[in-house]
Amino acid sequence: MEKISVIPVQYLKGIGPKRVKVFSRVGINTIEDLLYYFPRRYEDRRNFTTIAMVKEGQTQTLKATVLAKGERNSWRRRGFSILEVVVGDETGKIFCVWFNQSYLRQYFRVGTNLILYGKVEKYGNRLQMNSPEFEIIYEKDSFLDIGRIVPIYTLPDGITQRNFRHLVKVALDEYLPMITDCLPYDIRSRNNLYNLAQALLNIHFPEDAEAQKEAYRRLSFEEFFLFQVPLILRKLKKRQCPGIAHRIEGRLADSFITALPFQLTTAQQKAVEEIKHDMAKPVPMHRLLQGDVGSGKTVVATIASLISIQGGYQVAFMVPTEILAKQHYEKIMSQCQNTTISGIKEIKIGLLTSGLDKKEKEKILSRIAEGKVNLVIGTHALLEGSVQFKRLGLVVIDEQHKFGVGQRALLPQKGLNPDVLIMTATPIPRTLAITLYGDLDITVINELPAGRLAIKTFYFDEKETQKAYELAIEQLRLGRQVYIVYPVIEESYAMDITGAKKRFAELKSGVFKDFRVGLIHGRLKQAEQDKTMEQFKEGKLDVLIATTILEVGIDIANATCMIIEYAERFGLAQLHQLRGRIGRGKDESFCILVSRSQTEEAKARLEAMVKYTDGFRIAEEDLKIRGPGEFFGRRQHGLCELKIANPLTQLHLLKRSREEAIRLLARDSGLIERTGILLKEKILEKFPEYEKLILVG
Ligand code: ADP
Ligand code: MG
Repeated sequence: MEKISVIPVQYLKGIGPKRVKVFSRVGINTIEDLLYYFPRRYEDRRNFTTIAMVKEGQTQTLKATVLAKGERNSWRRRGFSILEVVVGDETGKIFCVWFNQSYLRQYFRVGTNLILYGKVEKYGNRLQMNSPEFEIIYEKDSFLDIGRIVPIYTLPDGITQRNFRHLVKVALDEYLPMITDCLPYDIRSRNNLYNLAQALLNIHFPEDAEAQKEAYRRLSFEEFFLFQVPLILRKLKKRQCPGIAHRIEGRLADSFITALPFQLTTAQQKAVEEIKHDMAKPVPMHRLLQGDVGSGKTVVATIASLISIQGGYQVAFMVPTEILAKQHYEKIMSQCQNTTISGIKEIKIGLLTSGLDKKEKEKILSRIAEGKVNLVIGTHALLEGSVQFKRLGLVVIDEQHKFGVGQRALLPQKGLNPDVLIMTATPIPRTLAITLYGDLDITVINELPAGRLAIKTFYFDEKETQKAYELAIEQLRLGRQVYIVYPVIEESYAMDITGAKKRFAELKSGVFKDFRVGLIHGRLKQAEQDKTMEQFKEGKLDVLIATTILEVGIDIANATCMIIEYAERFGLAQLHQLRGRIGRGKDESFCILVSRSQTEEAKARLEAMVKYTDGFRIAEEDLKIRGPGEFFGRRQHGLCELKIANPLTQLHLLKRSREEAIRLLARDSGLIERTGILLKEKILEKFPEYEKLILVG
């Protein structure tokens, strides 16, 4: 029987070549992808709130009929149209408003029945929803769309909720019977888990809230389990392999420390000691270095690198973005080059990113292969097959949450059991860290360098945006620089928010017209991003408008002010990372969170940002505020490969999955029993990088 993971999605009726392309863009290529494309939320369409019952500030699902519609031009903004639709039920009426979306007109014929979802606002005594999500209901509508709990997806372009929903249903009907469950029966029964078919059916079309919860629990367990098995396997195998015993006493590392313009903090010294201890041992180091933004992890990693280099070994230093790679390169270069102590100047440092042209790349590749480069700093490009080291002694991976577990495993394979140092700023409670990074030893840097001024954080309502800009201008007048961050690049009518690009145009010729303003986001060409970043770094730009591309590692001491607009749209961990970009110099810094959400939850979260500066504390607050009931809040923990499981809110399930994985591997460490084979296939599908680990017995 063929597996659904290899059946292309175009086998389904209703999916032609055009749709294949669009689906592929959101990662749906096979039937399995489609079945694992989970709803973003659900609507309970069994009973509706009547319009008479709705209150201002609530987010509601309503069922109503179109009574009238009209379109007018905005008197505030030229060329801006406003579509107004009055809808009602037996108890009252409510206005729905869309901006600059004339094309929606056609959907709202008088008498059409709609389901609306959005936030209810009140203007005078008129109830209104701005740009609500809507779905038209027809007489012939099936039980899939009404009278039940209905899934709502993040849609690929050009398909409606209804069409997508029906497509998923067809796929479930046709392919569920052929599905194989990779979770062994005994594990399912010990943990009261749904079987896979039951789970997939109920995650899309839950019979009731309880069934949805169970489906979510089962699928999360599966995800955790598939994640734990390779970790534990790796831990088992690691104990057996020989590593490099580095020469930790040496000229380079010591003179580097002496020449630093500052003293290492006690926590940094302790981290260096632990790393030295590991590196000296003849088994490979696998250490996680955890420390809040700005705690100085990079210097520690540089010292580890020099230890490796002084013994004649090479170092691969991987970071998630080109900008960060360049920044590290320049920083480490200057730290080494400024030192007059002999030896350090001669260290050859290379930069490897996908932005290099062919010739440059070939040159650096051959120098790496010949061992003429001691330290290579690079992006994912380091993982490519063409990168060969002569004597790889240490692998450093920075901001590890940006890489998959699999990628993390790939780089060390370029050497003979080199030491591995992984760094993260994601604040994870210790119990959780042990479970998530089960194969690593952990060092925590729990101290910031002395003399840093705390960042002052404010929380403004959207109406006070102007005030935020004024604060920024005050800083600009002092010669400082400013970041302004947006959650999206393009403006989004669906969400009714303005994107970075549009705001750039507005601000450049408006509020900040006396200053030099730049724009940076992930869809610009790499060269352009680099140029803008370079200009900002050199002080040739005063204001940098950006998306979350800033999140990792950028270190510019003169930037003392950050405005984050639509702050309610970011996770707390992300806000904390972003805020870590300022307060890096000796001047007082300001972070202004601008939000328009009035919900208690959003307020509480942003107030936590104002109150706390410690990343651990913020993570705890986040957990408290959102509670374990929080749905698919998956981006928070930064483990990109977990699609739905959330280690913060499902810690118990994660622990159970780990116990089960340990139990299974104790019995069948080669994954050769019948259930083991299924599992092995599944893991290799998910993390092909593990092939070596799993297949080599
Ligand atoms: P992280 O990567 O942990 O966020 P960095 O390594 O980028 O932090 O360090 C932040 C800044 O603090 C850098 O400019 C670095 O040179 C500086 N720094 C690191 N350690 C110290 C220290 N002990 N005293 C003063 N400044 C330090
Ligand atoms: Mg860093």
